[in-house]
Amino acid sequence: MMINKAYKFRMYPNVNQKEFINKTIGCTRFIYNYMLNQKKENISLSNFDLMKQISSLTITYPFLKEVDSCALRCALFDLENGFKKYFAKTGGYPKFKIKGVKDSYRTTYIKNKYKDKIYENIKIDLKNRKIILPKLKEVKIRGYRKLNQINGRILNATISKVADKYYVSVCVEEELTIKERIPSSVVGIDVGIKSLVTTSDGTTYGNPNYLKKYEKRIKRLQRDLSRKIKGSNNYYKTKIKLEETYRKLKNARIKTNEEIVSQIVNNYDIIVSEDLNVKTMIQEAKKHLRKSITNSTMGDIIRRIKYKSKWLGKKYYQVNRYYASSQICSRCNHKEKEMKDINKREYKCSHCGLEIDRDINASINIMIEGIFKSYQMN
Ligand SMILES: [Zn+2]
Repeated sequence: MMINKAYKFRMYPNVNQKEFINKTIGCTRFIYNYMLNQKKENISLSNFDLMKQISSLTITYPFLKEVDSCALRCALFDLENGFKKYFAKTGGYPKFKIKGVKDSYRTTYIKNKYKDKIYENIKIDLKNRKIILPKLKEVKIRGYRKLNQINGRILNATISKVADKYYVSVCVEEELTIKERIPSSVVGIDVGIKSLVTTSDGTTYGNPNYLKKYEKRIKRLQRDLSRKIKGSNNYYKTKIKLEETYRKLKNARIKTNEEIVSQIVNNYDIIVSEDLNVKTMIQEAKKHLRKSITNSTMGDIIRRIKYKSKWLGKKYYQVNRYYASSQICSRCNHKEKEMKDINKREYKCSHCGLEIDRDINASINIMIEGIFKSYQMN
């Protein structure tokens, strides 16, 4: 099976390279916003129509010629994707890009052969910890200390800037051999706000302590930022601090999620969870920072379980989102309607007398439902 994998490195560009990256980010943002404006005026414009405009734009705005032309085209693909998602109702209407918010650009891998010489525009040299990128030439990188080589075909690279730090994420297509195995163990997973993850074997993974720490800092910095004069030196300083805190929180979260998912997927052969409609949950909880962080974490955990179980040859099933996992008694199947109230932390069955933690009861139900599902599928 072929899989796509991303390798993200910290990048250490020199002064000239930094200037070039910033310039390219600016140019891709310009193209994106320009084309979005065109689309707003005439929605029927095709991507091909817009693509044709890029060459005439480079004549009007010669600075566009100085940067990587692949990156300009990628900006247009991103816009197209945004509209695709919008029309499929999986995303909102594309918004204009703002300087300082998600500053990045993507460029695609190109390979040419000329007079028996192979030319590649993106190349990773892990022995010397360097990456070659279009127009940038060699840039120092750091990360994946134990990795000496990347096997597989490079697809593209995304160069990003967070505060004053630079990163490159290289997307690679790799061959993965999966061992077929006979499943011998099963686990049900309940994800939620109270405990992040509860498994049917009774293990709970709560919200880690760092969450509170970062949450406090983010709230404080947001308040500070709103008091500063926009565009002033102090405004900029606070904004960098805020971005840095977001980045730290994100990294800590990824690490925690990876650990939880590894434990679950390594220990069980069949993994069952609910089908979360995370998107609607995020919208409901937009105002509450804590809730929105937990919601996106839940989505991330499910996403990781999905691909990790695939990679390890394990089975993963989702039960219907409307399956009443928290109302059904995991021992006698009786339905306890009052459990709809999420503040009730203990499940008490009026039929068989079972007393059990709400989330554990739900995860057992999810596990049982998943076993049924696996029979149906085989
Ligand atoms: Zn019961």
